[in-house]
Amino acid sequence: MTNSERMIEGISEGNRRALGRLITLIESTRIDHREAAMDAINQLHKPKKNTVRIGISGVPGVGKSSFIEAFGLHVIEQGHRVAVLAVDPSSPKTGGSILGDKTRMEQLARNPDAFIRPTPSAGSLGGVARRTRETIIAVEAASFDVVLVETVGVGQSEYAVADLVDMFVLLVAPGGGDDLQGIKKGIVEMADLVVVTKCDGDLIPAANRAFQDYRSALHMLNPGSSGWIPKILKTSAHSAEGLDEVWSAITEFHKMMGETGALDAKRADQATSWMWDEVTSTLLKRIKTASVQVRDLEAAVRNGDITPSEAAQRILSDFER
Ligand code: GDP
Repeated sequence: MTNSERMIEGISEGNRRALGRLITLIESTRIDHREAAMDAINQLHKPKKNTVRIGISGVPGVGKSSFIEAFGLHVIEQGHRVAVLAVDPSSPKTGGSILGDKTRMEQLARNPDAFIRPTPSAGSLGGVARRTRETIIAVEAASFDVVLVETVGVGQSEYAVADLVDMFVLLVAPGGGDDLQGIKKGIVEMADLVVVTKCDGDLIPAANRAFQDYRSALHMLNPGSSGWIPKILKTSAHSAEGLDEVWSAITEFHKMMGETGALDAKRADQATSWMWDEVTSTLLKRIKTASVQVRDLEAAVRNGDITPSEAAQRILSDFER
């Protein structure tokens, strides 16, 4: 048995060491690692169970890690295995990734039915999204049937994550939702489910206010083409209130989308967009390395000696030759 075969075997048995090894290959920038990762991904076994892919977004401080920990444990109690991944392109700049600190979800991290992977520490949003896509396939092959993809809730990464998951959940904190707490309107519009966090103790009145505000905001939105009407729910990670309702809404969404064929259609669209992303990024890399002129032309464009489109034409015709 080769190392790679052992790794694939291990993953299919749900072995987290083997899974970790593959994800390390997936995250590597070395060409031989990338090739090995791609090879392994192609050989992975299809998951035995239907999988659920959920994007979870919310601004820092909203209670994401507390929610994911409490919710993850709840879902495990229902007989599932939960993987938590993160997309946070801001982390290389700020130096701290959203999942870098595993102690944030200590209990969940210790649970044998949970797998938590910190954010890859470098790379562009496109690169991070691509690695996350492959990592989703890997954790599913290791029988983690509920995949939570966490993101920071402040911008572009939500759009990338929406292209990786079945359902998008937005967390909001108690308080006035007048300005919708600085969350971009586009992000609220993407939500299939809005979850008000910290609905406990003194925060209950403020949580109710947020609930009302977001409910009216959601009412103004059109249901997505799939026919699902976005929901809003109240939860508390501290008292475990509302977690079951969140899981019910997710399973209801999945059932409905499964029955109408919308889920298959969504995943099919995502698969083709993955394919084209792959073509684009591979081609770009090849063009950049194949043409010796690239650097000279880049410099010439910078200096204004040649127009960008002229330089682009030359690079492409050089590559085609
Ligand atoms: P994140 O930055 O979005 O991951 O948020 P955290 O989960 O780290 O929580 C931010 C703060 O909100 C912490 O001080 C938590 O103790 C608090 N918090 C999180 N969940 C709850 C909750 O359910 N109830 C209350 N009262 N506080 C919470």
